[in-house]
Amino acid sequence: MLTIALSKGRILDDTLPLLAAAGIVPTENPDKSRKLIIPTTQDDVRLLIVRATDVPTYVEHGAADLGVAGKDVLMEYGGQGLYEPLDLQIAQCKLMTAGAVGAVEPKGRLRVATKFVNVAKRYYAEQGRQVDIIKLYGSMELAPLVNLADKIIDVVDTGNTLRANGLEPQELIAHISSRLVVNKASMKMQHGRIQALIDTLRAAVESRHRG
Ligand code: AMP
Repeated sequence: MLTIALSKGRILDDTLPLLAAAGIVPTENPDKSRKLIIPTTQDDVRLLIVRATDVPTYVEHGAADLGVAGKDVLMEYGGQGLYEPLDLQIAQCKLMTAGAVGAVEPKGRLRVATKFVNVAKRYYAEQGRQVDIIKLYGSMELAPLVNLADKIIDVVDTGNTLRANGLEPQELIAHISSRLVVNKASMKMQHGRIQALIDTLRAAVESRHRG
């Protein structure tokens, strides 16, 4: 059995056509179904529906052989426990700092609100900057508006959410897209099968990009 961990939403919507190119089609619509394990048209391939931030955990521990996770999630997760053989070039966005339009930086320590605590620590450490990092789980845009923080670090696509809240994107931390991740033991034990799937997905990504 090959088990593939995916999260609902953008990643699922963009990954399903790529899997379909490899002949893997869920037997029920994962967006509508309440099931967390979804069989596919291939008897020996199944999908696990998990939270986006949990995909690396399932794959590293071998509960799933493969997964699709945003680079933002992988950067925050860290660790050397996964192979990342393919950029699927889907769910593209940017990981950025953002702050209130026209705000001046404080003289003292910068307060940065984010759910990407590890990314934030690394980013400011590389710059030799002392910062206080405030962990949030969502609605980061609110933090500068109510003086919880001077800046946020978040993923930005169109920037509309920032603008709607009087914020502006500032520094680019990383370009983000979703990656195929593979459990290291699975890659050894089922090498032929997984490599064939990677090759088919790579061809699907390339033809999608050309088209
Ligand atoms: P935006 O288009 O910049 O207004 O993005 C809308 C919201 O969707 C933002 O608050 C982001 O947190 C989120 N978002 C945008 N693109 C992605 C992505 N590729 N992956 C995860 N979250 C995203």
